[in-house]
Amino acid sequence: MIVSVNEALRRVGEPFPFAWEGELPYETFGGSPVRFAGPGKISGVCVYDGKTFRVDADAEASYETTCARCGCPMVQKLSFSFTEHFVRSIYKTPDDDLYPYEGEQLDLSEAFFDNLFLEMPMTTVCSESCKGLCPICGADLNRGQCGCQNQKIDARFSALESLLNDHKEV
Ligand SMILES: [Zn+2]
Ligand SMILES: [Zn+2]
Repeated sequence: MIVSVNEALRRVGEPFPFAWEGELPYETFGGSPVRFAGPGKISGVCVYDGKTFRVDADAEASYETTCARCGCPMVQKLSFSFTEHFVRSIYKTPDDDLYPYEGEQLDLSEAFFDNLFLEMPMTTVCSESCKGLCPICGADLNRGQCGCQNQKIDARFSALESLLNDHKEV
């Protein structure tokens, strides 16, 4: 995710557009591997203030995951935006929140992944209307009712019925 900034370095205060698209490297998140589905994209504007680069970026990544409700495999697409600052690595200090750069190139990977993982939801669903699995028999309720729910209603009805019957007997 290398962006050339040789022009921007020479023209302080002038915004320069950039764009990158390509395969995303292997990454882990919370100890589990992240399987990317398709290329990552990042584009935006960088401007040099004579000391640091300000990068305003719009980014996009898709990854494979499973639906938290029905367990089906799915691809989650994330679009996110961020603003980060870069400083020449020799001026980087441990307690600033700047990303280092060297030469006339910015490597946006670290900023990209830091912000991607911030945006990554803990759980994903294949669709907001996903009905999930039946807690009793495990059937996928998106494919139709399994019958368990009806039994529950039946049980409630029969309880009501016996209540009514009891009433009659009194
Ligand atoms: Zn689902
Ligand atoms: Zn069921």
